[in-house]
Order: sequence, then C-alpha cells, then structure tokens
Amino acid sequence: MLEELNMPIDKVLALDVPDEVLLERLTGRRTCKSCGQMYHIKFDPSKKGNYCDKCGGELFQRDDDKEETIKNRLAVYHAQTAPLLDFYGKKGMVVKIDGTKAPNEIFESLIKVLEGK
Ligand SMILES: [Zn+2]
Repeated sequence: MLEELNMPIDKVLALDVPDEVLLERLTGRRTCKSCGQMYHIKFDPSKKGNYCDKCGGELFQRDDDKEETIKNRLAVYHAQTAPLLDFYGKKGMVVKIDGTKAPNEIFESLIKVLEGK
C-alpha cells in the first residue's frame, strides 16, 4: 500500500526492551482515579503512597497494566509482530535502538538514525 502511495518503507526502527524490563515498567504503573495522573511505584512514586500528589485521589492499577494482561500482550507480540523484524531484517532495513536507556537518549538515537548518521 505504501509503495502505491510512493512512500515505500526504507527503515524499520525497533525499540529493543527485554520482556522483564517491560513487565517491570508496565506492572508498576498506577493511575489516579480522579485526575488520571500516572505514577510508577518504583520509578516515579507518589509522595502520598497510594494517593495522588496532585489531587489526593486514590491510585489504582488499570486492567491493561496487570501482569497477566501484559504477559498475554507480549505473547501476541512475539507470535504476530516480532516475525516482521525477521522479514525486514533479511532486507537489511531494521535498526535496533536500545529502549532501556533514558527517554532523551532514545530520542537522540532515533533522530540520528532518521538523519542517516
Ligand atoms: Zn489525581
């Protein structure tokens, strides 16, 4: 479809993060029931424990942040999406980016790849 639109894919960017790191990131997320503010129990906890710093609302874990849900999503990813990396990898189009680094470092890596450096 993209070729028909004269927009062929020339690069595939893969943000590489081990499953166990994704699990820790996602299962640790907590959301405020009142204002929607997000926290992380390890990386960005609320100073008020299980309550929101901003509004005092109760924090909860969304269903899609629960371990079982995330494990299912990862299984679907490995079965259905990851094979695309092999497909494009054989064409030499995949660039892997270390997704465990800080967001600004990842951003810089992405920019470098997109600028062809
Ligand atoms: Zn709140």
